[in-house]
Amino acid sequence: MHCMTYGTRHVRTISREPPVDPPNMLARTFARTSARFGTRTLATRMPIVGGNWKCNPKTPEEVPALIDNINACDTSGCEVYVCPSPLHVGLVQGKLTSGAVVAPQNCNFTGCGAYTGEMAVDQMAAMGITWVLIGHSERRGEFGLPTPKESNELLATKLKYILDKGLNCVFAIGEPLPIREKGLDAVLAECVEQLKDVKDLLDPARVVIAYEPVWAIGTGVTASPEQAQETHAAIRAWIAKEVSPAVAEGIRIQYGGSANAKNAPDLSAMPDIDGFLVGGASLKPEFADIVAAIAKAKA
Ligand code: PEP
Repeated sequence: MHCMTYGTRHVRTISREPPVDPPNMLARTFARTSARFGTRTLATRMPIVGGNWKCNPKTPEEVPALIDNINACDTSGCEVYVCPSPLHVGLVQGKLTSGAVVAPQNCNFTGCGAYTGEMAVDQMAAMGITWVLIGHSERRGEFGLPTPKESNELLATKLKYILDKGLNCVFAIGEPLPIREKGLDAVLAECVEQLKDVKDLLDPARVVIAYEPVWAIGTGVTASPEQAQETHAAIRAWIAKEVSPAVAEGIRIQYGGSANAKNAPDLSAMPDIDGFLVGGASLKPEFADIVAAIAKAKA
């Protein structure tokens, strides 16, 4: 671990090499001091909320209203990113005025070339894009259609490529309902299966984990705050043991699965929930309320 100074801020980072062109939001990640949580002392993690528009909206004419929802967010106490559909990335990049950033919903595992239908990290970097989302359950095979599943091995290759190219990554994981029904140990085992190939890449300054129980995504069923907390805490404990206590302490774990303005305050009160990955509600003005809820809870 070493210190880097961005502007006037002193930033703790665990990167072995400084990222290419570090964005402001990265600089703020570790700009917070220690705070007490119950009997534990935690390094406060800057909250982070992302809006995943998935394959929405239908027309380009609808994009500006969605951009307005993102620009309405107060990002002074919470980092914000938005994941437009691939076709709309270029309509959003350059239009965000509140400090939020664009994070495409997927990327390729290598550079430009003969990869029909793909989006290269290199193209994103050239567009000034600094974050990318990978590993969403809808890309891991929970798509409702027999499209090829993205394997843990492929996602590890993608994450390495993203970091090598100087971008930052939201890495999504989560279990389907039959695993949740077996209990927390089974849930953790599934999360570990999805994390073990990338454990050496978990740089808290550049990687955010999005824990999204598949059974809660788009269903209107949210994990209870206690359920989400115990899972986040279990993931963090595994990282502490398998990577290091410093990485576990620093890495941000977002909750995803029917998060909305109503349930965000209670979920935000949980010590190991550092933000949200939001699908449906990110298409609505209430997205700004979710950002405000976690910023307030972690202030
Ligand atoms: C998601 O797409 O990552 C998601 C969490 O969706 P929703 O909020 O609609 O459940």
